[in-house]
Amino acid sequence: MGSQNINTIAVSDALDPKTLIGSEYFASNYDPHIWFDVKNWELITQFVVDKLSEANPEHQAEFEKNGAEYLEKLKSLNEDIKTVISKLPEDKRILVTAHDAFNYFGQAYGFEVVGLQGLSTATEAGVQDVQNLATFIIDKQVKAIFVESSVPKRTIEALQASVKSKGFDVKIGGTLYSDALGNAGTEEGTYIGMFRYNVNTIVNALK
Ligand SMILES: [Zn+2]
Repeated sequence: MGSQNINTIAVSDALDPKTLIGSEYFASNYDPHIWFDVKNWELITQFVVDKLSEANPEHQAEFEKNGAEYLEKLKSLNEDIKTVISKLPEDKRILVTAHDAFNYFGQAYGFEVVGLQGLSTATEAGVQDVQNLATFIIDKQVKAIFVESSVPKRTIEALQASVKSKGFDVKIGGTLYSDALGNAGTEEGTYIGMFRYNVNTIVNALK
């Protein structure tokens, strides 16, 4: 975008790098899934209001009004999420997904998070990764594991089959949005709707 002379704002610049989670796969990079902590999204909302106001000062009042309304919605979202999660016993707060998209979520809301194939959806999980995670699921008696909308289902199905071959049943708890929203016009097509859907799906399947 910069090379095409398009004024571009990286919303991640709203966040203090010290609060970002590092990546064991890419030494100088960060885990990009910052949107799964609502507190981050609040900081980003204010940052967008400020940057848009700088770029377009005649609309500053409108940006600020919309920003303030959205921040209120994010605050109640965060409260609601915590209430739903509080109904899940702490030892059941283990989230197994296809790739490592939920580290910020785990940190913010008290889940142990395990992804089968690392931070990127471009790498494939190896046979050994599947075996190790299957053993982990049985040890911890995890009730459900989750497919993601942006990752092919077969990796999680292979994990489920591996668990079954070791004599334990783990169900597929549903499909989570990890790297993208749902379709426009649906509830999950918004950040808030997507987040509520994910949390309800996780808690219902694990409780
Ligand atoms: Zn991702």
